[in-house]
Amino acid sequence: MATLTFHGAAQEVTGSCHLLESPAIGRVLLDCGMRQGGDALRRIQGEGFPFEPASIDAVILSHVHLDHSGLLPTLVHHGFTGPIYCTGASKGLLRVLLEDASGLYHRDLEHENLRRKRSGRPLIEEEYTEKDVEKVLKLCETSPYRTPMKIGSATTLTFHDAGHILGSAIVELVLEEKGKSRRLVFSGDLGKPDSVLMNDPAVLHEADVVMMESTYGNRNHRTMDNTVEQLEQILHETWERGGNVMIPSFAVGRSQEIIYHLGCLYHAGKLDDWQVFLDSPMAIEVTQVYDHWLNILDSEDVRCLSKFGRESLQSFLPTLKLTNSSEESMAINKIKKGAIIIAGSGMCTGGRIRHHFKHRIWNDKNTVIFIGFQAYGTLGRRLVDGEKKFRMFGEEFMASARMETLGGFSAHAGQSELISWLLEFKNQPRVILVHGEASAQDALSLKLWEEHGIRADIPALGESIVF
Ligand SMILES: [Zn+2]
Repeated sequence: MATLTFHGAAQEVTGSCHLLESPAIGRVLLDCGMRQGGDALRRIQGEGFPFEPASIDAVILSHVHLDHSGLLPTLVHHGFTGPIYCTGASKGLLRVLLEDASGLYHRDLEHENLRRKRSGRPLIEEEYTEKDVEKVLKLCETSPYRTPMKIGSATTLTFHDAGHILGSAIVELVLEEKGKSRRLVFSGDLGKPDSVLMNDPAVLHEADVVMMESTYGNRNHRTMDNTVEQLEQILHETWERGGNVMIPSFAVGRSQEIIYHLGCLYHAGKLDDWQVFLDSPMAIEVTQVYDHWLNILDSEDVRCLSKFGRESLQSFLPTLKLTNSSEESMAINKIKKGAIIIAGSGMCTGGRIRHHFKHRIWNDKNTVIFIGFQAYGTLGRRLVDGEKKFRMFGEEFMASARMETLGGFSAHAGQSELISWLLEFKNQPRVILVHGEASAQDALSLKLWEEHGIRADIPALGESIVF
C-alpha cells in the first residue's frame, strides 16, 4: 500500500510538494517547491511544513524551477538530511537558482529587520542560511535519464526527459511490495513538443498511477512557426524605425530559447545589424550551464549549432554581448539604436529590465516584446493589457513604445498535448491532476471524461490518495 498526500500544487500552480509513503520507499517528497507571488521574504516566512522535515527519508526533484525546489534550503535548515535525487543538469542549475533566491531573501530579511529594530518590534528569525544552500547541493545524488536507480528498501527510480527546461524530469517509481509491483509516474512539468533546444517529453506506456501537471489544461498554444515569423517581422519594423527592442525574460529556458532563435535568424542573414545584450547575471550563468549540457538537449537543434561551427549558445549568436556588471549594463543606455536587450525580470516586477524601461519605454521608436506569461497585477501584465501611464522608481512614465506579445513561447504542454501524452499509457492507469488552477483542471478533466472515458482525480490541498 502507498499513500500520496498533496501538500502543494493542489488546485493551484505553485508550491509543488507531494509526500509519498510506502514500506517500499519510506517517506519521500516529490518536489519541495515554494508558493510564488509576493516578495522573497513573505514567500519563505509564510511557509511551514505540515510534516516533520527530519522524518523525511529523501526528496525526488522533478526540475529546478523554484515552485518545485525553492523550499529545499528551509527543509534542510529544519532537520532534513537525506538524499535529494535529481538529474545532473538539475544539480548544475539548482546552484544558480538557489543562490540567487537566497541573495534576494537575505537582502529583504535584513531590510525588514532593520525596520523592526527602528520601531522596537521583534525581529524575524531566518528560515535558512547560505550554508543550508551548500548543504542542499551536497545532498544531491544525480542520475541520468533512462537509468534505473535503486532507492529505499524496494523501489526503482528512473528519470525521463520532460522537455520543460534543462534537466527537467518525468519521475517513474516502481514500488515492490509482497511480490507485487506498483508503478507511479509523476509528470513534473511537461514541455511543449515543438519548442527549441528541448526534446519532446518522453512518452511512457506503463503505469498504475499517473500524476500529471495541468497548467494549460484549458487551452492550446500557437505554433512556433508563426511565432518566429512574427519575431522576424517585429525586429525588422523596429530596425526600420531606428529603434531598440527590450525583451523581459525569465533567466531559465526562455532566455536561452530566444538566443537560439536570434542565432538562427543571424545565420539565415535575417538579423540586420542588431547588437544583442543578455543583461542578466543570472541568465548568463544559466546559459553557461545549458552550454555545459548541450549533449542532453534536442540533438537536431544542437546539430544546427555545430553546422555553423559553434559549440555553445553564446557563440552561436556572434553579436551577443553578456553584460554582467552594472557598469556594463548602464553602458547600454548610450546606444541610440539597434540594440536588442534581454533582461529580467520576466514579468517586469524588478531587475534590470525596469532600468531599460526608464531609458526607452517612453520613446515610440522602441519595441517591448513579451515572450512569457504575465501574471495578473504585474507591470508586465498591465503593459500587455494596454495601460499607458505607470509609475516606477517614484516617477510617472508613458509607455509609448510598441508592445508585442509572442504567443508561441511556452515551457508547458497545451491541453491537447497533455491528453496525447496521457493516452500513450496502456491499461488505463489511475489519473491524478496536479499543478493547475481549478478552472484549467476542470476543463481538462471534463475533456478526458467526455472524449476518452478517463476519470481524473483532482485532489485538494492536504488530501491523501491511497493506491
Ligand atoms: Zn516548471
